[in-house]
Amino acid sequence: MRWPRSGAKTTAILVALLAVCGASLVWAQACGSTGLAVQVLGSGGPELKDKRASSSYLIWDNGHARVIVDAGGGSALRFGESGAQMSDVDVMLFSHFHIDHSGDFPALVFSSWFGNRTRPLPVYGPPGNEYMPSTTEFVHDLFSDPHGAWRYLSEMVDPGQTDSYKLQPHDVVAGSTPLVVLRNGDMALYAVRVIHGAFPALAWRVQMGGKRIVFSGDTNGDGDGLTQLALNADLFVAHNAVPEGATGVERRLHMPPSVIGVTAANAHVRQLVLSHRMLRTLGSEKENQTREEIRLHYGGPLALSNDLDCYPVR
Ligand SMILES: [Zn+2]
Repeated sequence: MRWPRSGAKTTAILVALLAVCGASLVWAQACGSTGLAVQVLGSGGPELKDKRASSSYLIWDNGHARVIVDAGGGSALRFGESGAQMSDVDVMLFSHFHIDHSGDFPALVFSSWFGNRTRPLPVYGPPGNEYMPSTTEFVHDLFSDPHGAWRYLSEMVDPGQTDSYKLQPHDVVAGSTPLVVLRNGDMALYAVRVIHGAFPALAWRVQMGGKRIVFSGDTNGDGDGLTQLALNADLFVAHNAVPEGATGVERRLHMPPSVIGVTAANAHVRQLVLSHRMLRTLGSEKENQTREEIRLHYGGPLALSNDLDCYPVR
């Protein structure tokens, strides 16, 4: 009579142990080791007190990090922590050139100089204006001889030097209708121009393996380009830089939660991830307000991301 009972107890303990082991196995797995996934390298904005890296994302495809979107401060360290290899990266995309989206780009490039990359790295981003360099200017202002800040790495951009792989910058002049920027094997890149105050800015859609992954970048949400780009997105990463009720410069630069919710709903996105979280949107009270505002419009899965969080795209 005692055996079955103690046997049941033992089984229960074993099941519990297996569940714990299973959970830790899943935990220990690298992001995107099978299938597609987005890993948030930087979930913060420009502030350092948020204890987050600034904006940056990786798209993993069966264990390879193929796309980097933005490279804000702190993201190079997160890139290393993610286990990604620069030699795997097919393309680098910029939403715009504020420091919290581009400050670690030279660190990533210099790290890869020590790696085994040989093929060129295409770099796509917006054109310039009086406030911002174009993507080609940005890359050349960093690395070109004789005026680049880090001209000691001019071999990264000078076709006449053969010592390293090359950066290939491109200026993407997009409107509010999604523009095909690149088709490369199973990958297609689309961009729309978005409004981020006076700063040229793009939102990006990466299509891969039959899935659509969309990054809003920084935008105030004006116009319908972002909704068009995000149409039927399997994953939509939206920037939660301001709370509901923001006014003035904050509102001219960024979209409040209600605009994120309306965009996600109108575009029928399947999963919404919030990022670019700032002190003014962090904390349980503000986060609850954000969730409530979004829930008025969008009922699908919603996550507030942290650095290195991994979102499988199914
Ligand atoms: Zn930003």
